[in-house]
Order: sequence, then structure tokens, then C-alpha cells
Amino acid sequence: MTTAQAPAWSGLPTGYFTHGRIYDPNPLANAPESPERMEALESRLFVSGLEDFVERVECGPAPRGVVTLAHDEDYVEALEKASQGDKEALARFEMTDTKVGPGTFDAAMRSVGAVVAAVDAVFSRTCRNAFCAVRPPGHHAGRARAGGFCFLNNVAVGALYARARWGVERVAVLDFDVHHGDGTEEILAGREGVKFLSLFQWPLFPDRRIVPAPENVVQSPLEAGAAGPEIERVVENEWLPVLADFRPQLMLLSAGFDAHVEETMAQLKAAERDYAYLTRRMMDAAAALCEGRLVSVLEGGYSLRSLARSVTAHLQTLMRP
Ligand SMILES: [Zn+2]
Repeated sequence: MTTAQAPAWSGLPTGYFTHGRIYDPNPLANAPESPERMEALESRLFVSGLEDFVERVECGPAPRGVVTLAHDEDYVEALEKASQGDKEALARFEMTDTKVGPGTFDAAMRSVGAVVAAVDAVFSRTCRNAFCAVRPPGHHAGRARAGGFCFLNNVAVGALYARARWGVERVAVLDFDVHHGDGTEEILAGREGVKFLSLFQWPLFPDRRIVPAPENVVQSPLEAGAAGPEIERVVENEWLPVLADFRPQLMLLSAGFDAHVEETMAQLKAAERDYAYLTRRMMDAAAALCEGRLVSVLEGGYSLRSLARSVTAHLQTLMRP
């Protein structure tokens, strides 16, 4: 009798990459992208007992030379100056939903730092896969602009870093946040060796979307009211065939949980079960195509209860054999 041998990497832990920088640039505005989001995740991680089984890594800021793989140098400089209160620099960030405060630059650099560390971990084999619990999110940040609570594009830097540092020829970025990852699309469109797949409610914020989509971008817009079966259709009919054909050596997830039915910011109707399904299918693809190398990065998710439950379902699935 022969039994299939599990690959050695499958015994490695799931990494939980985070940074302790709590920042609230706009406490009076009661913004939905709030420090309470991270508290909700931490609390659920503890109560669920998952905390004991993940490899927790506290991350420092990414090197500036890594951040500029995806962003213009003068934009990164302006963000730093704006965080220090420089009036001229602050004028560049005059948006109601994307306020810069004293802690913004440090937290944004550390969010990228977490993704970079997670990419290193799945290639150096200290973790089999990873979840980056980070604020601020990143997928609306373009090459030289902030937007939608995002300042630096965590996944776009991660993808370009994997190519630069680890010599990876093909990286896939998969975005299931309810909002279109317009910043990621802007940075990665037309880039060699990178594929960007994004499902999102449409029409909805942001109104930026490249039409027709560039060759390395797959857009899967969903109508308001779409639920699990429609998400499943996108994954099975659009994402998996593209992945099988592209054969990525690393998969990055832009993991927003704001398509949840309890979210008021959008009108999709996903549930915890759908996030577990999506995670499982991405893990299966990663196991078949790239020795399980999957790095998931938190984007949106603003209803604190459903965010905490959905991330738990996601993390629990990532930890399964
Ligand atoms: Zn979102």
C-alpha cells in the first residue's frame, strides 16, 4: 500500500504578520478604517485560540528602496513630510477619507514591511503561508496618490519585491475586497510577470477602472446583491483557469472582507463560509502551482463583528492541512 507523502512545506506554520503601530489620524471623524478594526481581530485571535498556532511576527518598516519599487520617490517623501505636519506636503493629501496624521507614515511603512517580511518567510520557508494583519490598507493607493484609506500599496510592493529579491518570474495578485483595487491595477497594469485578478461590486467606489482591462488584468465586476454563488462562479470560471495557465510562483491576496452581507458600505452578500471557500480554492491552487506560497494581506472590512469572524474563517482555513 502506498500513501501520498505530504510535502515538507505543508508542516510549516501559518505566519501572522503585524505591527504594533496603532494610528488614528482622524479621531473626530469617526472614520470606518479605525484602530478598533485591529482590536477586533486581536480579540478574536485570542478568544478563538488560533493565537497559539500561528507564527506571530511583529514587523518593522520596509526599506524605502523597496517601497519605491511601486511608488514614486517624491510621493513617499511627501507622505513622510505630511506625517510630520509639513503644510505644503499635507496639501497633497487633502481628502476627507484619507487623512494623514502623525503616525500615518510609520504605520504605512510598517504595513509594507509586514508584506515584505511575509514574502521572505514563504520563500525562505519559515512559514508555509501568511496573513498580514495590517493598517492602513493599500489597494487604492496608486503610484503617486493616496485614496480610499490607502497610502502605500502593500500588495503591489510585495509582488514587485518578490520579483526583485527572489527572482520570481510570475506573481499573481488576487483581490476579493468589495471595492476595485484601482491602485494595484494602476501600478501593475502592463507589468511583465505580474497578473492582477480582481472581483468587486460595480458600480461602487472607486470610479477608477481601466477599460478595456490591460492584458495582465482580469476584472470581474459583480452587481449589487451578488452572493456566494456569484463569487464561486468568478473563482471557478475566471480565476482558476487564468491561474492554471499563468503558473504563478507566488500568490498574493488582497483580502478585504467588506463584501460581507453585514457591511453597510457595499451591497454584496458574502458570508464567512464564502471566505473559507475562497481561501481553500486559493490554497489548492497555490499547492498545485507554487508549493503553497500564499501571502494574504488585509484590505477592507469595517463591520467589526463580521470582519473578526471572516478573518477567523480565513485564517483557520489557511492553517488547515
Ligand atoms: Zn474595500
